[in-house]
Amino acid sequence: MNLSNGQTYLAIPGPSVIPEAVLRAMHRASPNIYEGELVDLTHTLVPDLRYVAQTEGNVALYIANGHGAWEAALANMACHGDRVLVAATGWFAHGWAKMARAMGIQADFVEYGTQSTIDLDALETALRAYPSDYYKAVLVTHVDTSTSVKNDIATVRSLLDDLGSNALLAVDCVASLGCDEFKMDTWGADVMVAACQKGLMVPAGMAFVYFNDEAAKCQKQLPYVSSYWEWGQRANPEILAHYFCGTAPTHHLYGLRVALDMIRAEGIENIWTRHETLARAIWAAVECWGADGPMRMNIQDKSLRSTAVTALHMGIPHAKNLRNWTQHSAGLTLGIGLGMSTPEDPKGDGFFRFGHMGHVNAQMILGMLSTVQAGLIANNIPYGTGAIDAATHVLAGA
Ligand SMILES: *Cc1c(COP(=O)(O)O)cnc(C)c1O
Repeated sequence: MNLSNGQTYLAIPGPSVIPEAVLRAMHRASPNIYEGELVDLTHTLVPDLRYVAQTEGNVALYIANGHGAWEAALANMACHGDRVLVAATGWFAHGWAKMARAMGIQADFVEYGTQSTIDLDALETALRAYPSDYYKAVLVTHVDTSTSVKNDIATVRSLLDDLGSNALLAVDCVASLGCDEFKMDTWGADVMVAACQKGLMVPAGMAFVYFNDEAAKCQKQLPYVSSYWEWGQRANPEILAHYFCGTAPTHHLYGLRVALDMIRAEGIENIWTRHETLARAIWAAVECWGADGPMRMNIQDKSLRSTAVTALHMGIPHAKNLRNWTQHSAGLTLGIGLGMSTPEDPKGDGFFRFGHMGHVNAQMILGMLSTVQAGLIANNIPYGTGAIDAATHVLAGA
């Protein structure tokens, strides 16, 4: 029987669920881009974007996705022949490094695999191997969406300070901004990249590169910066066209305005707490299922788990069967495994992910968990009992 008609839930780690209010704000005729409402509205976005990242620093806006933000950040930090060091805790760190290489920037790795956070000793060894100005930047993923590990940014900052490194600390917050706690200034990130289609709840199409004055100073020393990606004018625009180096993403700006209003109204600390509580309900359920079945959290240590995305393992063919069932029979789309292939499982089909970022609440998470349990039953996948009960207790106690 097919039970998928009705409101669907795209529970993948981006793009995320778009609030109706955001969609409504975007459904309109094209505005004038030279004067009036849209110009005024765009100026109001930057203070709220700063608030979401807890920074007083600069923000450059781009018409791009997360990959565009990666390239934009790199173009302002390094040139052909320069070097960056990548602390890799999953697929997305490799993606950023690949982009650096394509730009002629040498990307060295400290590789931590798919189930671990950054080991500072290994990072220290890599940094000590060369003079303090050898690397232009250290690239770190705050939450790697493939493994769902969350890295401690402040400790990486302390290490760079202790070693007297000149490298900028550049952080990928595409998955975590507006979901997991992030404090750009307190934690000491110099550069941070984000996009609008995850915690910020807007359809893909806008990206953000945050940078502090130190990063701005370093950028000025570079022999060249590609003019489209150059962040200075975007962060200090005199006319609307300066923000985007051309035509503004008109409708996205209306959507983003509403999304930021929602974030302001709830408060960023409350948003972090909501994500954390919903995540704890998910973890409690998985613990019960896994007690008598094949389902496992990819990241064992709770303090290292993202609260926006959860990577899980269940083996072949269970994970794929479950995803197929929830999508086609129940209207719930779960995330695929990404970058998790092993010799026994070359496609990484034994992995799957829950996305719980942005516009999600308790009833959606309970619906997701109950639907997953129905999928386990329908596919004869063994599981331990008590999962839904455990999740409801977490939510009731919140
Ligand atoms: C989604 C994601 C990206 C890539 O974003 P796109 O919009 O798909 O280009 C980069 N880094 C992280 C951590 C992500 O979650």
